[in-house]
Amino acid sequence: MRPMQIGDISIDWLYDADFGLDGGAMFGVVPRVVWSKRYPADAENFIPLSLRPLLVRRPGVVLVIDAGYGNKLTEKQRAQFRLSRACDPRRDLARFGLEPEDVTHLVFTHLHPDHAGGATTLAADGSVRPTFPRARVVVQHLELEAMATPHLRTKHAYQEENWRPLAEAGLAWVVDGQAEIAEGIEVYHTGGHTQGHQIVKLSSGGETVLHMGDLLPTHAHINPLWVMAYDDFPMQSIEQKARWLQRAQDEGWWLSFYHDRNLLVARFDAAGKPLETVAAPAFAESAAGG
Ligand SMILES: [Zn+2]
Repeated sequence: MRPMQIGDISIDWLYDADFGLDGGAMFGVVPRVVWSKRYPADAENFIPLSLRPLLVRRPGVVLVIDAGYGNKLTEKQRAQFRLSRACDPRRDLARFGLEPEDVTHLVFTHLHPDHAGGATTLAADGSVRPTFPRARVVVQHLELEAMATPHLRTKHAYQEENWRPLAEAGLAWVVDGQAEIAEGIEVYHTGGHTQGHQIVKLSSGGETVLHMGDLLPTHAHINPLWVMAYDDFPMQSIEQKARWLQRAQDEGWWLSFYHDRNLLVARFDAAGKPLETVAAPAFAESAAGG
């Protein structure tokens, strides 16, 4: 796969697995007859999604953005999410000649299990350990607060085992609002999808890629009003999307996707039409080591 290169930052997309979710939940109040023209669903209303952690490299930095579900799901959960194969973000690292120990930073856009689960791995002895033992893990303070003070709606969305082993290993890097992780790599708090959701801005050589996490899970979510029913604070999602997408539009930034089955990154015109895209490679299960 061709990595995306901006200045001295290269970006690759790790392919963790394909999965599926209810299209209605993914497009919130937008009617199916409207969204399904942009992102087709099957007879059961499921839409095809993927889990694609980003691998961002610049001199001295190996950053992974989100980590897939990991290997802690039950058989029943795997079937429920229609996961195409076992999740393990280390598998793709090897394809790029990297070991788990080489990862210097991990950013959680938020702590939902499809983003945070893979950062810890269930070992054969039953213990749960950091997947990337040397990576500092960047998370927003407000996201940890959301996990620590569960609401009736959010309590099943957060699992302590996805965070505690990382904190106990001294890997936590808790930030508040905006923070620079390394030169040209910044996070910004947005909220919206979750209380402490954050996005990642990658800039080098005069070019920028904005990774909006679950505020822009697929290219079809480019309309600021098309927010997921999963979002805990939809008004905040809309406000943050409108603001950041306008900025991306004004400044010609690329937008990258974590859940899109077909596209990795795109640039859009003012009407939300893709101008330039980089398509996801088709993975044969065997070729991808599944
Ligand atoms: Zn997600």
